[in-house]
Amino acid sequence: MRKSVVAGNWKMNMNNKEGARLAGEIVNGLKDGFDCEVVLFPSFTTIPSVLEVVRGSSVSVGGQNLYSESSGAFTGEISADMLKELGCEYVLVGHSERRHIFGEDSVILSKKLRIALKYGLSPFFCVGELLEQRESGIAGDVVERQLREVLEGLDESEISRVKIAYEPVWAIGTGKTATASDAADMHSLIREVIENIFSRTISQRMIIMYGGSVKPANAAELIKEKDIDGALVGGAALRADSFLEIIRQSVR
Ligand code: PEP
Repeated sequence: MRKSVVAGNWKMNMNNKEGARLAGEIVNGLKDGFDCEVVLFPSFTTIPSVLEVVRGSSVSVGGQNLYSESSGAFTGEISADMLKELGCEYVLVGHSERRHIFGEDSVILSKKLRIALKYGLSPFFCVGELLEQRESGIAGDVVERQLREVLEGLDESEISRVKIAYEPVWAIGTGKTATASDAADMHSLIREVIENIFSRTISQRMIIMYGGSVKPANAAELIKEKDIDGALVGGAALRADSFLEIIRQSVR
């Protein structure tokens, strides 16, 4: 049985003071122990204070983004090495806001994922279709292409460090959630694609999380699906009570 994972993507919210307070409330709420891996993705400047607060707890921290090169003249960018050196374990790659607001395509995402792995970070690779793609019946093809374009060519030790987040773009920050059965169908397709590219063993071990307006009211019905291994949470991760409730419901 795969252990569930619940991650909070704070996006461009939570300054140092607010982030430290929220992380403290989360660590406190988890002190009795939950059989669920918990990861926080604060903004870059808030990472150090969150790391300080979660030290000694089971909560891990990741970066929301990184640049595709190791170092150099890339003003305003953050490298994999910088995140790793701070103490981050994870990094988001391919979040829909990076794809659609910042125009990141599979070529750049492929480089980002590989540089993250090279420096010892474990990527959460995000995929998901637009509303018009779902409505025209091509959601599965779109997601399969996003997976193949970036993951093909990784070796076994590399793919074993990747987690996948399926986040239909139309469900992110909109209050609309995929039905548990639509999400389950896509998760099982993703697992099949991973099996076809790599192997059955790797696909059975792969953590595939759902993201898109997950909240306490819908987390339990999503997580009960056998191929949904947890949640990547945006809005509902900004309050300790709702985030902790999602974690409680995600324990298998
Ligand atoms: C996200 O940012 O990854 C996300 C899923 O956001 P929300 O939960 O707000 O839809």
